[in-house]
Amino acid sequence: KVEKLRKLKDLPAITLDGKRVMLAANIGTPKDVKSALANGAEGVGLFRTEFLYMDRTILPTEEEQFEAYKEVVEKMEGRPVTIRTLDIGGDKELPYLDMPKEMNPFLGYRAIRLCLDRTDIFKTQLRAILRASAYGNIHIMYPMISSITDVRRANAVLNEVKAELDKEGIKYDKNIKVGIMVEIPSAAVTADILAKEVDFFSIGTNDLTQYTLAVDRMNEHVKDYYQPFNPAVLRLIKFVIDAAHKEGKFAAMCGEMAGDPLATVILLGLGLDEFSMSATSIPKVKNIIRNIEYEKAKEIAEKVLNMKEAEKIQQMMEDMIKNID
Ligand code: PEP
Ligand code: MG
Repeated sequence: KVEKLRKLKDLPAITLDGKRVMLAANIGTPKDVKSALANGAEGVGLFRTEFLYMDRTILPTEEEQFEAYKEVVEKMEGRPVTIRTLDIGGDKELPYLDMPKEMNPFLGYRAIRLCLDRTDIFKTQLRAILRASAYGNIHIMYPMISSITDVRRANAVLNEVKAELDKEGIKYDKNIKVGIMVEIPSAAVTADILAKEVDFFSIGTNDLTQYTLAVDRMNEHVKDYYQPFNPAVLRLIKFVIDAAHKEGKFAAMCGEMAGDPLATVILLGLGLDEFSMSATSIPKVKNIIRNIEYEKAKEIAEKVLNMKEAEKIQQMMEDMIKNID
């Protein structure tokens, strides 16, 4: 079976009736590119950049970041690489940043909120990303967007940085795509508004599940409440994908759900364009996609959306994928 999955590496993620989707990898450092390519990733759907900022005593320089981003795009040889801007705060603290002590860090000063406050940090990162975009196919992605105001403020900073680079005569991809993570319920519910402002969405089901169901994604005591297959979460996912498509934009997913074989058929049927996951999950997900008709997946997604209980949905999907080998 392992051998069979390995043979899938260079085959496309295409259904029996010809619907093609993109399977990409989530990476945390440039070292992860090797495994991404070995498992057949067609791109990097989420490059978490926090590693550059963690386990150290000062902020990373523009040059350090530029080298890391450039290394990844070069190694990906023209395949798209989605770089997520800093998502620090919440559980991830930086000792050298003097962050506030908060009652509810996950509802607090984190990610894009921190970046829009500390534009010095944000601009340094955006400069490094833009400079690296001259060496490959980079997309920029903002985390923890809660409204159109966040998008506009972030883009205003990006435009300032672009103007600086123009003035200095430094090259970058002038058509660089800019998208957002949809991982806060307010963003999901207003996806029709946000779709007009961005080039793409990437659904972050880890946080979207946490915030939609008001359940701490790391708290063992409430782990049964953490349900990506909850109808509330599935309805949001459908709404987000449809909203993107209405504006001719693409819808990706980079939360854990994208790499969960139990979710593959549902997400495919809902029309998800890109699945980004830990590299080792790619072969399994690809195998499922290559063994089902898109028309069938659509029927199943529709059926699932009419079901009432996460447990029953999960059980049905478990029974279904048993038959795919
Ligand atoms: C998510 O929230 O689904 C996500 C992909 O981001 P992270 O796990 O880094 O919060
Ligand atoms: Mg997240």
